[in-house]
Amino acid sequence: MGYELRSFPAESFGASCRMLSGCSRFGKDTFGMSIKPLEELQRADERTLRFLPGGLGLGLKLRPEDAAEYQQEVAGRFTLDERVAEGTRNSYEHLRTVFGYGVLCYEIYTLVGDHALLVIEQALRDRFVDFHGGTVTFVDDTDAEHRVAVAGYDDVHTFLRAHRPPRGRRPWRLRLPTGATMTFRDGTLGDLRVWAREAGLLRGQRNRGIERALAALRNSVAHPSGYQLYGPVEAAQTLHDLAEIINQLWGAPTPGGRLYPAPTRREVVVMAWPADGSERITVTADALVDAVDPDDQPWQCVILRAVFRPGERFADPGLRYFDSRVEVTTYPADVLWGPGTITDAAAWYTQHEPQPDEIDHLDRTFMIRHHAGHLYLPVRPQHAAASPRQERAGTWYAIRADHPNDAYHHVRNIVTAAGCRPRGQCHYCHAETLKFGPHRTVTAGIRAAAALPPDVTTPWAYPRAQRVPV
Ligand SMILES: [Zn+2]
Repeated sequence: MGYELRSFPAESFGASCRMLSGCSRFGKDTFGMSIKPLEELQRADERTLRFLPGGLGLGLKLRPEDAAEYQQEVAGRFTLDERVAEGTRNSYEHLRTVFGYGVLCYEIYTLVGDHALLVIEQALRDRFVDFHGGTVTFVDDTDAEHRVAVAGYDDVHTFLRAHRPPRGRRPWRLRLPTGATMTFRDGTLGDLRVWAREAGLLRGQRNRGIERALAALRNSVAHPSGYQLYGPVEAAQTLHDLAEIINQLWGAPTPGGRLYPAPTRREVVVMAWPADGSERITVTADALVDAVDPDDQPWQCVILRAVFRPGERFADPGLRYFDSRVEVTTYPADVLWGPGTITDAAAWYTQHEPQPDEIDHLDRTFMIRHHAGHLYLPVRPQHAAASPRQERAGTWYAIRADHPNDAYHHVRNIVTAAGCRPRGQCHYCHAETLKFGPHRTVTAGIRAAAALPPDVTTPWAYPRAQRVPV
């Protein structure tokens, strides 16, 4: 109707038009909105054309047909796992389809970005119904269980609305498959976000903060108080994050993902440096074949398993500071051989032919010791359990975090009373305290490593302990 309005004679609508405020001029401007002919609606939006594959074009722009192809390719990069529920899948496909039309109308990117935030809630609802297999068990404040048949999430809402706990009584609790219960007040996004964590569907300590932020953004979209305009880059990022969240909810981590990545490949890597530490060479270990030591000065060499992809110009940023007895790298790195000469490394590599593997770097456990005014760098649980008796004194902290620095700064903030919560999930940083106490308490139940790894540090390694103010 709206598109055809312009072709009708103005006088046929004259009477009703004059009755409507905001209708200053029929035809080109109806209800304060400019009516464009079809050919103009089909014309590419100049703003979108400025977004090139390499970034924003300064004085450059894509041809409309190239921009259309490129933006559809961007949306097409993010696919959903086949297990994802049909309703969530359909909503996601709508967003991908509409994203392509941003070439004609730049404002579409804002709508896609906003609506993607709303689809997060739909995905949580659909996954909730899937996860509980048609029956949800609520527990009242007398510990009595109420089994509720659920065909869709509306059934959850209907039950909670019809059975509100009287004022002053405990809210409903939800029974999880583990047998544990969690508070489930009214089934809104806040409950669902906590549920996904409690059910073990979402992971990563840094993601806890991101999930909170996305929920807050979703609420700002549902209850807007201002105006904003996104471009294709922001909309694509939100679409990508949405795909990662949906896939993770259905148990499918994303290869190379930003939020919930699939296990990362570790290569066999050789790192070598001269005795004076004036330079460093890091290459994949296949370069060791036929390698020999230089004549001018002795080099130290180690063979590691670490994240290192020279073809993608990507390497673990902490590799330079490698220390085999503590955790400093972004991804777990293991010493396989060394230190020794390059010639001996080459011989060992040829004989043993170590292979790459894959690791998950989220939600790792780090053990941190605080003793005599010093805070020691994080170590792995099995290494802490195998530590020499003379290195066990003090208070130990078992911390869950995605990066050793997160764990270390969390404990530093605890011992210096700088604000972090000493127990449970920290609200101030990306870490969770699992246990703390003497060595025997914190390492109870942990299988000690048969032996500590060979003691290897690069010339650039950090001191293993730092004095902290009491
Ligand atoms: Zn903290």
